[in-house]
Amino acid sequence: MGNPVSQFVSQNFYWVFIAILVVNLLQRKYRRAAFKKRNATLYLAIAVFLFSVCAVGIVSLKISDYYLLIYAGIAIPVFIVFRKTLLPFTLRCRDCRETLDFNRVLYADSNLCANCERKLAEPAEDAAHGA
Ligand SMILES: [Zn+2]
Repeated sequence: MGNPVSQFVSQNFYWVFIAILVVNLLQRKYRRAAFKKRNATLYLAIAVFLFSVCAVGIVSLKISDYYLLIYAGIAIPVFIVFRKTLLPFTLRCRDCRETLDFNRVLYADSNLCANCERKLAEPAEDAAHGA
């Protein structure tokens, strides 16, 4: 066979697609707090789905893996242009650079650690302590 990459993708990326959709469903619980990240996982799931559809097409038409480059040629520029929308996930707090826990990485649009979010929620009390 002349398309080992497409065969691998068509056989395995279905599970990547399902995994991203499961994360998307879990984000639903957090509603507005995870709105951007929920959209991002949806777009990423669509991208993975289209990638595996291309791979299945290549396998069934018995054409070369190089046709996957057409998908890459479209997907990579789109990804670069919309990278902030597609990857809003950060591993560190936006304010204090502390490492975020797994739940905050996936489910909090604010990208703040628990301490910084608490500070942001009660700024008046914080100012009173400073004075
Ligand atoms: Zn912080």
